[in-house]
Amino acid sequence: MNQGVIDLRGDWAAPPTDAMRRAMAEAEVGDDNSHEDPTVIQLEEMSADLLGKEAALFVPSGTMGNLVSVLAQTEHGSEIIAGDRAHTVIYERGGIAALGGHPIRTVPNDRFGMLDPVQVEAAIRPENIHFPRTGLLMIENTHNLCSGTVLRPEQVDMLAGIAHEHGFPVHLDGSRIFNAAAALDAPVARLAAPFDTVTFCLSKGLAAPVGAIVVGGAATIARAREKRKLLGGAMRQAGVIAAAGIVGLEQMAERLPEDHANARRLAEGLATLPHIALDLDTVQTNIVFFEIEAPLSGEQLTAGLKASGVRFTPFGPTTFRFVTHYAIGRDDIERVLLAMKEIVA
Ligand SMILES: *Cc1c(COP(=O)(O)O)cnc(C)c1O
Repeated sequence: MNQGVIDLRGDWAAPPTDAMRRAMAEAEVGDDNSHEDPTVIQLEEMSADLLGKEAALFVPSGTMGNLVSVLAQTEHGSEIIAGDRAHTVIYERGGIAALGGHPIRTVPNDRFGMLDPVQVEAAIRPENIHFPRTGLLMIENTHNLCSGTVLRPEQVDMLAGIAHEHGFPVHLDGSRIFNAAAALDAPVARLAAPFDTVTFCLSKGLAAPVGAIVVGGAATIARAREKRKLLGGAMRQAGVIAAAGIVGLEQMAERLPEDHANARRLAEGLATLPHIALDLDTVQTNIVFFEIEAPLSGEQLTAGLKASGVRFTPFGPTTFRFVTHYAIGRDDIERVLLAMKEIVA
């Protein structure tokens, strides 16, 4: 049994695979700032094809992908509608407001990450001299803070339809869109179809060390490329990192169901333990959120997991998250459950 550290803090903790390191060493490169890096161009073309869009842009992070998507298709100062638990709203340093000058109007995410269409509609500003103009709707799939829950095609179609009826674009933070596609056994292009732009991460379940992709229409992506430059995100011989992204798309997307099965096994095991509460309905992909209840304390849990070599992320005094990825095997899941059993005993 593996007695090393079990890193469940995030799928971003997945190290690059051996195949990625080899591809990186051998990558053909050029100046990406001039859009001349052949490996970056290959990754962008693959990504656009896979998601069914005209063009793609390689960016250093998902955060920058979301930001350039907003900047590329939204008038400065216009208002963005997003879920109140959206990564963009909570975990991106307020960049959309700070750098784009966009106020954000939130609508509650339900426990499955969905937005109520009636509330979305009500959040759209009517024409009035006092109001900001609504510029964009932002959706997240899978939904990180809602435990990696999946929005189905008819749900995303409905939400995107509202934005389009009102004449503004809709962006998908699809950092884990490949997890959503795997969970639904649907083509990723189907889930991307109603969106004007989609960001996905290469460095989460796909296990590349760096990078994210924005896809969309050719004119929008050309503007996003200008915004990437504005933000200091234009790169040079970026083929070295893009090569790992290509391996991620070719080899890692198809194995995500294993991560989902491991998360499921972990969640079902945790659900049988005393002083642990979790909502099994929301464990649909690779993310498991759970709550602890008295007399078990956060300090006890933290100390116990540390002693067992299990790393995790606290999301508050009683809320914790485990995330599975390719470097976490079934034996690791059993080891975590054993450690948890001893901690709660
Ligand atoms: C990870 C993540 C991002 C992007 O984060 P980076 O750390 O900038 O790559 C965006 N949205 C969601 C839902 C994420 O999980």
